[in-house]
Amino acid sequence: MNLRRIFSCIIILIFLAIMCIIGYFNQNSVFTMGKAVSDQDSKKIALTFDDGPHPYYTEQLLKGLRERNVKVTFFITGQNVEAYPEIVKEIYEDGHLIGNHTYNHTQLTSGNAEIFKQEIVKTNEVIKEVTGEDTIYIRPPYGSWDKEFEKELNMFPVLWTIDPFDWCSSDVSCIVNAVCAKASENDIILMHDQYKTTVTAALEIVDKLMEEGYEFVTVDELLFD
Ligand SMILES: [Zn+2]
Repeated sequence: MNLRRIFSCIIILIFLAIMCIIGYFNQNSVFTMGKAVSDQDSKKIALTFDDGPHPYYTEQLLKGLRERNVKVTFFITGQNVEAYPEIVKEIYEDGHLIGNHTYNHTQLTSGNAEIFKQEIVKTNEVIKEVTGEDTIYIRPPYGSWDKEFEKELNMFPVLWTIDPFDWCSSDVSCIVNAVCAKASENDIILMHDQYKTTVTAALEIVDKLMEEGYEFVTVDELLFD
């Protein structure tokens, strides 16, 4: 009788232990899955390309972005819009965001505010001739900007948080590592679609960061979400 009692107790204890172990692992997997899903939802990041479009490299970049279904932002100069309107149209039709980068890539200084403003207005006009839409985002060359212009011109300046100096490097992995090592949520990456290395590096950056759960968005989604 005693032995039977001890045996029953052991069976109950083993049963309870198994239930605890199952419960522990279930709780863990739910937690892990929940974390992975919420990370994926929140990690937005933006790639931006200045100084273009370029007659060859921008096309290559657009092709790679299309294959990956990724949208980015192009800050283009008015003179390049006039030189390559068909590429600007392609950028627009692919659903990327287009921003102003002045007409002649002019840096704002203490003495050229009027010329700078005229360049912005002229660039907005030539972009609208191609896309039919108003441009409200500007990346001022070299980051020189005057807050007064925001109301006057109704434009938002978009600077950057990661600069891999792609324009002075011919080493793709160096550019990729410079971006991926620093990347975090809501970063704005500055690149230039004028170089073969930039196009290769940008597409590698997209592949690598998407694997890490990042979602590439246009800058408007980061600024106003
Ligand atoms: Zn520039």
